[in-house]
Amino acid sequence: MKITESKLYRDKCYINGEWIEADSRETISVNNPANLEEIGTVPKCETAETKRAIEAANEAWPEWRAKSARQRSDILRKWFNLMIDNKEELAQIMTIEQGKPINESRGEIGYGASFVEWFSEEAKRIYGDTIPDPLTDRRIIVLKQPVGVVASITPWNFPNAMITRKCAPALAVGCPVVIKPASQTPFSALALAVLAEKAGFPKGTLNVITGKASAIGDELASNPIVRKLSFTGSTEIGKILLQKCAGTVKKVSMELGGHAPFIVFDDANIDDAVTGAMQSKFRNTGQTCVCANRIYVQEKVHEEFCKKFVDAVSKMKVGDGLNEENSSGPMIDEHSLSKVEEHVEDAVALGAKVAIGGSKHSLGLNFYQPTILTEVTPQAKITTEETFGPVAPVYKFKDEKEVIDLANNSPYGLASYFYSRDIGRIWRVSEALEYGMVGVNTGLTSKAEAPFGGIKESGLGREGSKYGIDDFIEIKYVNMCGLDK
Ligand code: ADP
Repeated sequence: MKITESKLYRDKCYINGEWIEADSRETISVNNPANLEEIGTVPKCETAETKRAIEAANEAWPEWRAKSARQRSDILRKWFNLMIDNKEELAQIMTIEQGKPINESRGEIGYGASFVEWFSEEAKRIYGDTIPDPLTDRRIIVLKQPVGVVASITPWNFPNAMITRKCAPALAVGCPVVIKPASQTPFSALALAVLAEKAGFPKGTLNVITGKASAIGDELASNPIVRKLSFTGSTEIGKILLQKCAGTVKKVSMELGGHAPFIVFDDANIDDAVTGAMQSKFRNTGQTCVCANRIYVQEKVHEEFCKKFVDAVSKMKVGDGLNEENSSGPMIDEHSLSKVEEHVEDAVALGAKVAIGGSKHSLGLNFYQPTILTEVTPQAKITTEETFGPVAPVYKFKDEKEVIDLANNSPYGLASYFYSRDIGRIWRVSEALEYGMVGVNTGLTSKAEAPFGGIKESGLGREGSKYGIDDFIEIKYVNMCGLDK
């Protein structure tokens, strides 16, 4: 499929129910990372267009919040159904602009849609509270109300699900949204807007603006109308946005970087651990914030694990994600590729051994070989910095205490994983890991029903699950007095 032939393809921004160009008429080029060809352009909007999008959302707010929960739920449900009906087309658009294997894209559309379904249901369950007042003529009532205009800034690694995970709860509770997708993957976001328009969201309720990240981001973070900013991206940009949001004391959700430990104890089922490591490390070509970054294997099973892990990696097929046979796509761009090269060269210079891979793929362009490094040293950059690529560093450890200390020795605290069949150990280690998410005997934990999020420098707030709605709600306390008169 040529992306421009898709009925879901739009090369304009969606603001106040209209498809618009940038005031300057300037555009940004979007490339297919598998062949570097331009697939289209999107408007290069800046501050003025962002202000208009925020104002449109604000104008849409009274009507949207006044709808009953059931009415909002019905529209969200229609959006969900349209996503499922158009799954294949959305998946094709995603692979063309993002590069991930088509089956992973299909999986992401289902995953992204599941947030819309989940929050269409949760919309009806925004329960308040009554609290006994110490005085007899009074009652304490707790109301839950939408926070107001929500801005969401999303990354390129999950071009669909990172949008729905933020916007579905916001819309469900009655907040309008302004979405700024990553410049590498705007067409998935604009396709979602096409379907939102069809689903019947009133104009201004859902807006998508593309363009200059710093100008749009500055306005979203500093405009007083925006009451909540939800960001997924690097810790570096997250910290900048947090500072900017301080100026107007906005509510914030931050889903930032991670450096996941993946621990294999000697009582683990090693075949399961290898399957989990493959899923956790190599999904999306290693470009997820929950990817295993440090694989710790206990001495007794180290050799067996490494042998089976190398064997599994040797079967991976690298290439254009549109080819159904390929299990690993390109990296998003040259910059990401050079970071991977740098991490591998640095680790090897400091003593690591390349068990498989270790260099650019013969396909050239943005392709890198799925790689396993063993005997990686603590000083290597890869031990502390997020690689965001298909490289698995493996470390050997002796006992539980040692590995917990190693695992927790990071400013990040997003995802962690471990494999064990010992129930006592499973409890101890789950409680000791300083991470927002712990996968026990699994390499995949993300789902609409569960609270996704990190601690430490990995972020603030939770997305998905019943907790994911709290970030878009204000609690209002009403004290009703004089009830005895
Ligand atoms: P990544 O390394 O995953 O691209 P970034 O944090 O750079 O992570 O980008 C995540 C999102 O933040 C993208 O939508 C990007 O365009 C946006 N972004 C980048 N720089 C800024 C900025 N200065 N202000 C606001 N948003 C930004």
